[in-house]
Amino acid sequence: MKKKILIIIAIIMILSTIIRTAIVSISFLNFSNEIILNQSILIKEILQEVIDKDKFLQIIKKSEHIRDLKFEKVKNKSIKIDYNFKNREIKVILPFSNIENLVITYDGNIYFDKIIKALIQVITIAILSLIIIILIVNYYLTPYLEILEKIKQVTNKMLKGDFNVSIETKLKGEAKEFIDSFNDFIKKMKNSFGVIEEKYTTLIEKEKSDDPLNDAKETIEQLANIFTYKRLIEDDINARNILNRLVDIIKSFNINHFAIIAIDNRDKKAEIFYSQGDICCEIEEKFENCRAYRLKKEIDSFKYPHICVMHRCENNYVCLPFSSGGNFTGILKIMEQNYENLKHILPYIKAYLNETSNVIEAKFTLELLHNQTIKDPLTGLFNRRYLENILVPIINGALRRNEKIGFLMVDMDYFKKVNDTYGHEAGDLVLKTLGKVLLNSIRKSDIAIRYGGEEFLILLQNIKDKKEAYKVAEKIRKQIANTKFYIGDQTINKTVSIGVSVYPDDCQKSWECIKAADSALYEAKRSGRNKVVLFEKKHLT
Ligand code: GH3
Ligand code: MG
Ligand code: MG
Repeated sequence: MKKKILIIIAIIMILSTIIRTAIVSISFLNFSNEIILNQSILIKEILQEVIDKDKFLQIIKKSEHIRDLKFEKVKNKSIKIDYNFKNREIKVILPFSNIENLVITYDGNIYFDKIIKALIQVITIAILSLIIIILIVNYYLTPYLEILEKIKQVTNKMLKGDFNVSIETKLKGEAKEFIDSFNDFIKKMKNSFGVIEEKYTTLIEKEKSDDPLNDAKETIEQLANIFTYKRLIEDDINARNILNRLVDIIKSFNINHFAIIAIDNRDKKAEIFYSQGDICCEIEEKFENCRAYRLKKEIDSFKYPHICVMHRCENNYVCLPFSSGGNFTGILKIMEQNYENLKHILPYIKAYLNETSNVIEAKFTLELLHNQTIKDPLTGLFNRRYLENILVPIINGALRRNEKIGFLMVDMDYFKKVNDTYGHEAGDLVLKTLGKVLLNSIRKSDIAIRYGGEEFLILLQNIKDKKEAYKVAEKIRKQIANTKFYIGDQTINKTVSIGVSVYPDDCQKSWECIKAADSALYEAKRSGRNKVVLFEKKHLT
C-alpha cells in the first residue's frame, strides 16, 4: 500500500519535472534567439551604414562572442539561426544585399553552459522536492497505514474468536477517536461473545472451528430449535409421539440411513421403532448384547472399527443411547457414511437426545402406570376396567359409521383340570400362552380382553356379517386346539369353546351383546365343548 502510494508520487514528480525542464529549455532557447537575432540585425544595420566596413569588421571580430563574420553568396533570402551543439556555436544568416548574405558565427559556449546549468538546476530542485515530498508523505502516511495493517490483523484474530486484542496508536485527533471506539467495540464483543460462547459450549459440546462467530450463530439457532422441540415433546401424549418427532428431527439433519430402537427395560422387550435401510443387527432378539445399551455410552465405529459384535454389515455406524437409566432406553443408530458431516451435526443430535431423555422416560413410565390399570398383568391383555371404559364409545362409533361388531366370548374347556393336575402356576402358564395365541389370531384393530379367570372377550371391529365373526372364532378355536401348551418339559393340548354375538344383529346395548355371547358360549359348553356357537334368541331362555 505504502509502496504503491510512494511510487505513484515519484512517477508524478518525474513526469512534472520532465515537462517543466522542457518548458524551461524552450523558453530559454526562444529568449536566446531573440537576443542573438537583435544583435545580428544591429551589426548588419551598422555594417550597411558604416563607410569603413573592413575596419568595422576587424573591430567586431575582436569581440570574444563572435567567432567569425563573413559574406557569402545568396542561397536563400530568409533569416536563419543554426545551433551547432557539437562545435558549440550559433550561426546567424542574414540577407545583406541582393547578392550577399551576412553570416555571423557566435561562440555558443555561454548559451549552452547556461542552458545546461538551468536544466541542472531544474532537475536538482525537482529531485530535492521529490525527496522532501516522499519524506513528508512517508512521515504522515506511515502511522495511518500501520493502523490499517493492525486493524486487518486484529479483525482476522476476532474472526477466529480471539478477542484479547486491541490497537495502540500515537496518532491524535480523529484517528485516535476512531481507534478508541474500535477498541471499545472489541471490548464489548469480547464481553458479550465470551459469555455467549461459554454458555453455549456448556449446553452443546462442540469442537471449535476456525469460524467461531458462525459457530455461535449456528449453535444458537440450534439451541432455539431444541428449546422449541423440548416444549413440544413435553406436551406430547406418549413416548411414541416423542419418538416420531425425533425421527423427523434426525431426518431434518439430512441423515437417511438410521434407526431408532425402543427398549422396555421392565418387560425386557426391544422394538425397532423406526428404520431407514438395513439396521444391520438383530437388536430385537438380543438387545442385551447391544454395546451402546450395555455400556450406556456412545459407540462409534469410525473411531473404533468393528467395535460392536452385533453389527453385521461392513459400513460404519454411531450408536447413541438415550434415557438409559429407567424403564425406557432409546438407541439411535446412525449409519451415515460422511463422517465429516456427521461430526459436525452429532453435537446437535446429542443435545436433542439429551432433551428427549427425561421427557420420554416420564411419559413412558406414566404409560406403564396407566397400562397397569387397564391391562391384566398375567396375560398382558386388556382388563375388564378397560372394557368398561371403551365399550360405549366403540358401540356409538359403530352405530355412527353403520358398522358391525363381533363379540367373541372364549372359555377354556376343563381348565380347572390343569390347575388340579399340574398346579396353579402351570394353570397361569397355560393362560399366558392362551392370551398370546388370541392376540396373534386377531387384527390390530380388534381388542382382546381378559374378561374373567379363564374367560376372554374379543371385540372384532367393523366386520361384514355374522359369518365373518364365525370364521374368526373358528380360526381361533382351531389355532388353540393345535397349540402345544408347555408345562415344564411336558406339553398338553387344550380346547376352547366360543360364543359369538354380533352388534347390532343380536343386541342393541353393549351389555346385551356380552350377555348374548355368554349365552352362546353356555350353549357351546352344553352341546359338547371345543366348538363355536352363534347366538340365537333361544339361548337366552
Ligand atoms: P369348563 O369347561 O366348564 O369351562 O370347565 P372349567 O374347569 O374350565 O371351568 P370352571 O369354571 O369350573 O373352572 C375355572 C377355573 O379357573 C376355576 C379357577 O380356579 C381357575 N382360575 C381362574 N382364574 C385363574 C388364574 O388366574 N390362574 C389359574 N391358574 N387358575 C385360575
Ligand atoms: Mg372353562
Ligand atoms: Mg369359565
